[in-house]
Amino acid sequence: MARSLRVAVVGAGWAGLAAAVRATQAGHAVTVFELAGMPGGRARSDDDSDAATDNGQHILLGGYARTLALMRDVGVDVERALLRMPLSVTYADGGGFALPASGPRLLAAAGALAAARGFGLADKLSAVAMALAWQWRGFRCPASLTVAELLHRVPTGRVRRRLIEPLCVAALNTPLAEASAEVFLAVMRDSLFGARDASDLLLPQRPLAHLLPLPALTWLHAHGATVHLRTRIDGLDKRADQWRLGGQVNPEDSFDRVILATPALEAARLTRPLAPDWSATAAALSHEPIVTLSLTAPKRAWPAAMLALDSDEATAPAQFAFKLGAQPPDVDRVTLVVSAAGSWLARGSDAVAASAIAQYRRVFGVPDDESVRLDSVRADKRATFRCTAGVVRPPRGILPGLQAAADYVAGPYPATLEAAVRAGEAAARDLDR
Ligand SMILES: Cc1cc2nc3c(=O)[nH]c(=O)nc-3n(C[C@H](O)[C@H](O)[C@H](O)COP(=O)(O)OP(=O)(O)OC[C@H]3O[C@@H](n4cnc5c(N)ncnc54)[C@H](O)[C@@H]3O)c2cc1C
Repeated sequence: MARSLRVAVVGAGWAGLAAAVRATQAGHAVTVFELAGMPGGRARSDDDSDAATDNGQHILLGGYARTLALMRDVGVDVERALLRMPLSVTYADGGGFALPASGPRLLAAAGALAAARGFGLADKLSAVAMALAWQWRGFRCPASLTVAELLHRVPTGRVRRRLIEPLCVAALNTPLAEASAEVFLAVMRDSLFGARDASDLLLPQRPLAHLLPLPALTWLHAHGATVHLRTRIDGLDKRADQWRLGGQVNPEDSFDRVILATPALEAARLTRPLAPDWSATAAALSHEPIVTLSLTAPKRAWPAAMLALDSDEATAPAQFAFKLGAQPPDVDRVTLVVSAAGSWLARGSDAVAASAIAQYRRVFGVPDDESVRLDSVRADKRATFRCTAGVVRPPRGILPGLQAAADYVAGPYPATLEAAVRAGEAAARDLDR
């Protein structure tokens, strides 16, 4: 084995935890510093109980190979923790598209399109033509192309609105008019048209804390790593190849390597004096909110546990509704998700909530004399970076001995748990360089 290094990991989101676990496995002496009292970052729970509330509804995909492997390695029973179902974009009226559980991908996708409900022949033909054109071009396109431009010629308005828009907004958290077609096609290639179960939806059955953050913390403690929660790092200093961190718990400690696993703006702040160009690239990323609403509503029959909703800019903010976990006998406990929520949030979270409830009433036919109760509304203003066409993301390497590992660093995918875990693992792999 290569020599054991003293490694500081700043941030215990999914990227930082991936970096810490893999670096510990490689024999390095790892110390993690995390600002919050709970690990998990943007994919965290409020506390460690089984009834904890998450920062927002998360969906994993079958293609999240590195995330699923990491969860298994820290002792998570992935099959129980996640409900696996074939990809579907199903609407409350039963319309939409659902992949079969098995079969060769392309045939399965073509069959699902042919069987899609609520689409006419012209819609289906245009969708098949679109899929063939993507395949023909190897799922590649110029970096400057937006998803709206990619779709300009082929699909009908209905395919665009009811199929592509929900997939794009869910994956890239960026409106179609600005979203990167290059990244969208990479997601399509590796999920919908990827390996057999890559497009499966994996819906958390437990609070997010139990999917990775807490088991990873237990694993790190058991394998000799040190984790300091409630510890904010506020500066970086390098002397004679040794790193010291402002705010570190023991001022005498020094580190051979530092992995910055914070969000982009914090990494930009910490690196400004040392690496101004890298810092400027990270600081230039813009961000897009996601709003998550929890409702208690009258019982209704749903065709699937996760439903797509027709959304628009004027009256209907939410794109997806979830009815997950054990449900009370008399009411539905529902989660609504508003992705790419920037323009909605500019009207205030009360306005988003009022519009989302009105949308819910329309879609599920709930009259005014029946109550729909808003239990919570959470707005994460910087949920992800905006994955726009041509966006320049900073590289993982910052300076010798200093790397960034998080969902925003340069890579083929948008800001997801899998992008974060991959960045963390790659940083751990490159420690010896
Ligand atoms: C509401 C919402 C819904 C989402 N839905 C999905 C989904 O369905 N599927 C999906 O794949 N992804 C989803 N995402 C995206 C996903 O959550 C992120 O891509 C991922 O969690 C990012 O992980 P990270 O480790 O890169 O960063 P973060 O999670 O932001 O972790 C950074 C960590 O650094 C800590 N930190 C910051 N500054 C300091 C400091 N100075 N010192 C010490 N620690 C510091 C923070 O407290 C945090 O714990 C969603 C995100 C949100 C917000």
